[in-house]
Amino acid sequence: TLRDPKLSAATTIAVANFKGGVSKTTTAAAVAQGLSLLGHKVLVIDTDPQGSLTTLFGVLPDTEVEAHHTILSLCSGESESIMEAVQPTYWDGIDLVAAAPVLFNAEFLLPARQKTESNFAFWQVFDSGLEEARDIYDVIIIDTPPSLSYITINALIAADGVVMPLPPNALDFASSIQFWSLFTEVCESLFKARGDTKKFSFLDIVLARVDKADAVSLDVREWIIQAYGSKVLQVEIPKTSIAATASAEFGTVYDLDSSSAQAKTLKRARDAYDELVKHLALQISGVWEADIEI
Ligand code: ADP
Ligand code: MG
Repeated sequence: TLRDPKLSAATTIAVANFKGGVSKTTTAAAVAQGLSLLGHKVLVIDTDPQGSLTTLFGVLPDTEVEAHHTILSLCSGESESIMEAVQPTYWDGIDLVAAAPVLFNAEFLLPARQKTESNFAFWQVFDSGLEEARDIYDVIIIDTPPSLSYITINALIAADGVVMPLPPNALDFASSIQFWSLFTEVCESLFKARGDTKKFSFLDIVLARVDKADAVSLDVREWIIQAYGSKVLQVEIPKTSIAATASAEFGTVYDLDSSSAQAKTLKRARDAYDELVKHLALQISGVWEADIEI
């Protein structure tokens, strides 16, 4: 049976969406830093072979990451605990499981194991691999690839809550609906026969890269709220030039110096993340009680 999210020590958050370029990685990094500033001990897990989150934490995927620094050993069965892949980062209080292009192999390894190992549950590899980490960290944040891959399914099954960044435009909205209906189908085929369901403690839709001057996006925002209701958070992450500045310097808004020329924009962006982080902190502390059944 599936683990009861309320019984685990650390809260595991998957940052997920079908699409690339919707601010998943930026959100994962900023939220990790924001939560760490509130005193939480954080593990970030990069599961996207592109390794963007890894880069934001100062490690170069192409030259500095070996397979044993990644989730690959977990996927192959060589390792049973994610802790074997953990490395410290420059940011005090945040550890990293890195990603690199070699991770692409996970998409072949997991289904291959299912054929050869009896009772092998491909969707529970992360969930059981995180067991040890749940006793060490307060929060585990998993950044996922832009697809409903074996990796993403594993991340969602291991997660207690989900953060889905969603820019308010029509195509991203449509793809987010496809994402959830596909994931629901996957869960039904995996669990229904066992009389089990996947439950999340929270599912946060975060409007991201929001351009207030864009009239179309105001309409799409209404559709999003109609479709997802109270799961859409009040806080919106504005589209700002500061995001590009931060990623060019391989960091987030929490890394930038507030005395810079873009101080006002930086404050606007940072205030939005602060609010998102505050909301997540409440959910992590268990004050927020919800059961979302998939
Ligand atoms: P994903 O992980 O979903 O592919 P990223 O977080 O890598 O998306 O973001 C994609 C690009 O969008 C990056 O170049 C990033 O700097 C930029 N970006 C992210 N958030 C914002 C924002 N709020 N405003 C403007 N650009 C943003
Ligand atoms: Mg990404």
